[in-house]
Amino acid sequence: MVGVKEGAIADLHLHTKDGSYDADVPAERLFRTAAWAGVKTLSITEHDTVEFHGENLRLAELNGIDLISGVEISCVDFYNAHILGYGMNDLAYLNGYLGRARVEGGWQTQGYVLDKHEKQVTCANLRKARFYPPVLKIKDAIEAIVRAGGVPVAAHPWWWRDLESKTGRSRNGNGSYRRKLSHERYEAKIEKLKNMGVKGIECSAPREEDVDFYTSVAKNLKMIRTGGSDLHSAKNGRKLGTTVLTSRDLDKLYNAIAASNCKNI
Ligand SMILES: [Zn+2]
Ligand SMILES: [Zn+2]
Repeated sequence: MVGVKEGAIADLHLHTKDGSYDADVPAERLFRTAAWAGVKTLSITEHDTVEFHGENLRLAELNGIDLISGVEISCVDFYNAHILGYGMNDLAYLNGYLGRARVEGGWQTQGYVLDKHEKQVTCANLRKARFYPPVLKIKDAIEAIVRAGGVPVAAHPWWWRDLESKTGRSRNGNGSYRRKLSHERYEAKIEKLKNMGVKGIECSAPREEDVDFYTSVAKNLKMIRTGGSDLHSAKNGRKLGTTVLTSRDLDKLYNAIAASNCKNI
């Protein structure tokens, strides 16, 4: 059973069993739950792929949900340097680009193959692909998202860690146990990303004080505020939807997507 956050109108950061190796909720159930709870706008942001967007679009239409095409690209620059992309209208390009990056990054051992036109990437056994080594630099991820007509957004900055901030207690190697940075350094990192082309900041942190901090950074730097649950599983108590995102934030994102889509035509 997937729980839903009360009062949420949208969720722009979701993973499904169908498209992410570390998620266990089928897309079909996510869309049905959102429709039932009145969460009108979703974006499915699988790790490093947009392969499943066509099927998600079908489920969205079936359930009366507004779907924004999405992706979450894992980058090598620092720990948890994930870049979200929203509203891409050239998904064939992005899929081909990400597919090539994965194959070049050695993912064939995990069953990934790129078709001969380099347009589609498929994984014979997604559930067996236990881990996705990041292969792209942030600047390349931003460029690919923009070229596909999308809007790049900094994902969960509260999880960012420096590569060199090893504490020796990192249990899972993803940086969760590494030291946090100072507020000044988080803001400086976001400003750097803004100068590289990132348009928005995900602000839906689990801690209220982080929500306030990243909201103020978004305001200072005149960036869009986005939000989502980063739901991977119904088992850990995380709920679908975020109350951080308002209809005003959504409008700003839609405007940025429209501008980016235009440049792409
Ligand atoms: Zn992430
Ligand atoms: Zn995620």
